[in-house]
Amino acid sequence: MWYFISPEVVFGEDAISHLDRLQGKRAFIVTDRNMVNMGFSDRVKEHLSVAGIDCQLFSEVEPEPSIETVKKGAEIIMDYAPDWIVGLGGGSVIDAAKAIWVLYERPDVQPAEINPFDHLGLRRKARLITIPTTSGTGSDTNWAIVLTDTAEERKLGLGSQEAHADIAIVDPMFVMAMPPQLTADSGMDALTHAVEGYASAWKNDFCDGLCLKAIQLIFQYLPRAYHDGQDKEAREKMHNAASIAGLGFGNSMLAIAHSTGHALGALFHVPHGRAVGLFLPYTIEFAADISTDYYAEIAHFLKLEDTQGKQAAASLVRAIRKLAQSINQPLTIKDLGISRDNFKKSLPKLVSYADMDTQTVTSARIPTTAEFEKLFRYAYDGKLVDF
Ligand SMILES: [Zn+2]
Repeated sequence: MWYFISPEVVFGEDAISHLDRLQGKRAFIVTDRNMVNMGFSDRVKEHLSVAGIDCQLFSEVEPEPSIETVKKGAEIIMDYAPDWIVGLGGGSVIDAAKAIWVLYERPDVQPAEINPFDHLGLRRKARLITIPTTSGTGSDTNWAIVLTDTAEERKLGLGSQEAHADIAIVDPMFVMAMPPQLTADSGMDALTHAVEGYASAWKNDFCDGLCLKAIQLIFQYLPRAYHDGQDKEAREKMHNAASIAGLGFGNSMLAIAHSTGHALGALFHVPHGRAVGLFLPYTIEFAADISTDYYAEIAHFLKLEDTQGKQAAASLVRAIRKLAQSINQPLTIKDLGISRDNFKKSLPKLVSYADMDTQTVTSARIPTTAEFEKLFRYAYDGKLVDF
């Protein structure tokens, strides 16, 4: 038995005007300073006021949101007592909005305790709207929550199947001004979600089509969105692709490009999408024997040159590297400017972080500790390692 969980998704040009018809009294908008400065929170407020809904803003969410921030938001929300919570921003903001919502509904729960196994009974007080302003994380359409325990310097991969948005508003207007580097990083994150969601150990019939479509859209439109931010069609297609990939992997989970990417991000502060995108080709090569058919199906769908057997995985790897190069993304850890000495010093930690990562267990091929080490060494300079 398995589940497919999805919000109502409102997408395309002017999707934001869906808020004009919202039923409710008070909305608590969780966002960050950037969104306020860009005038995005005002846009949301204007639409909510058309619906006669009063608003309060909480704009203190930082990148990689901390437990403290979530607790602070949860205190403020209690007094305001909204019937809607709006998460307006990138993945960090949306994750914080989900966690604040959980604490609002369940003051007896600690943020670090949010897990998929306990029934929370959300939606007694409020419902959640997500409005993504990057095209990558897919947090708007799934139920994952990533918080940072600043005291222990570690990321907490949390989530609850109840903690998905009721409505996701995927409006390309919010991503038109994304700078090229953010477009590239978030786009590679979305690609990694879609490929890993398609080939994870928990892949399933309901997710496969979503992941394939997202992969196709990203190959077609990411270079365009990167090279010309004003390309409206490319922006809209990439925004859709990220949310489609979010639905896909959100219901089938991820794999070791995320485990290794998380480890590298934690130790060297590499942006999430850049890190996971860098590892994706290496992890496909690692899993090629086990997931041969899945990679062949992706290669076939993308109309790559080789679509049979292990050759298909190799052609998919080449296509991903070509895409990454076309948007100036690094292909190796060395390309990130990390010295060999620093890398070697950190290798035991990288391996142990990746080993313990929650995404490792849903990989089609789970590396041993020695294999993780090989994988990191291979990704350091791209010098071929035989798995
Ligand atoms: Zn990701």
